[in-house]
Amino acid sequence: MSYLMQADPEVAEAILMETRRQAGKLEMIASENFVSEAVLEAQGSVMTNKYAEGYPSSRYYGGCEYVDVVERLAIERSKILFGAEHVNVQPHAGVQANMAVYFTVLEPGDTILGMNLSHGGHLSHGSPASFSGRFYRGVFYGVDRKTETIDFDEVESLAKRHRPKIIVAGASSYPRRIDYEKFRTIADQVGALVLADIAHIGGLIAAGLHPSPVPNCEFVTMTTHKTLRGPRGGLIMCKQEFGPALDAKIFPGMQGGPLMHIIAAKAVALKEALTDDFRSYQAQIVKNAKTLADELLKAGFRLVSGGTDNHMLLIDLTALGITGKEAQETLDRTGITINKNQIPFDTKGSQVTSGIRIGTPAVTTRGMKEAEIKLIAGFITDVLMHIHDEHRLAGIREEVKSLCDRFPLYPERIRENR
Ligand SMILES: *Cc1c(COP(=O)(O)O)cnc(C)c1O
Repeated sequence: MSYLMQADPEVAEAILMETRRQAGKLEMIASENFVSEAVLEAQGSVMTNKYAEGYPSSRYYGGCEYVDVVERLAIERSKILFGAEHVNVQPHAGVQANMAVYFTVLEPGDTILGMNLSHGGHLSHGSPASFSGRFYRGVFYGVDRKTETIDFDEVESLAKRHRPKIIVAGASSYPRRIDYEKFRTIADQVGALVLADIAHIGGLIAAGLHPSPVPNCEFVTMTTHKTLRGPRGGLIMCKQEFGPALDAKIFPGMQGGPLMHIIAAKAVALKEALTDDFRSYQAQIVKNAKTLADELLKAGFRLVSGGTDNHMLLIDLTALGITGKEAQETLDRTGITINKNQIPFDTKGSQVTSGIRIGTPAVTTRGMKEAEIKLIAGFITDVLMHIHDEHRLAGIREEVKSLCDRFPLYPERIRENR
């Protein structure tokens, strides 16, 4: 019996059920992934015990010689992977990474030009529901009504009108490549800084499949747990000149002790990301997303922007007469986990929505390729076209189960009931 099962059976049981849920369903939430056993081992290590306020070689406490090793490795590996000048691996999450950048270069009341939340942007890019819209003034660009890709004429005119101190280029639900050079050109016309938030596409950029914002942007923030496939956390890259100020804003500015076990796991994930295997994994994510998009288009669905360049796609459900909420709930019952998502110019609220977002990073980690994606596209089509046909839904649940069984996830944990 495990230590945990003995000490706390309620928590142990919940973790076991979660392991089984992850293995027994198709995880297609675009922001989720499955980390390696090596990452989990580092994350579950004694480094959680260590206080290490400060940075390698200049800490406030003694005994930091080994945590220094892992933090240095994480920094060096990110520099190699992304070609960054300065890296801070301490942000607890993606939002903290963005917060640190704002604290570094903005004063309260300054203007942030970010992407409209309902067009694909993120709460932390100036939304009134987030600190970023309470301390700062959020102004928002969106996508063009026809192409559903970023409307750079609008970015430019808003930049000229509002003179933002920082322009945020990045999104949570945008299926197309982002042109950082265009953001740079516009920012230069109005003297703005550019923050590229690559939370979702960090892995694709690390693998060289999407253009890197590092040369064109003063700041690049990311999460380490989405396509990058590391532990839950944040990371910031910036130009050397901003490095010392940025580090001081993370600590002591807004965080206390860094999560050294997570930083150790970040180092492990970054080492994995430097391999050829990781590059082929990222390429397969994109191939899988394209295959899924093609199959869904053939089945008659409308996709926002007509397709995808990355790891995700957005289905507009309006013509089917169902909401994103209904689609999410029904797909979940058949073992396909996705999320409801607003589409550009949505007429429904964020709790109902006219769309759903589907991503391929996690199923690709399990080893699924085009053939399996075609099966999955068939399941999704069947479910969404027959949302009230309980008999059919039960059949699909069985098929999803047997597909999952063919691609084991955390097999040792499943075998050992942990
Ligand atoms: C996911 C995401 C974040 C937030 O990351 P957390 O780790 O959840 O704080 C920030 N920006 C973008 C664009 C994201 O997609």
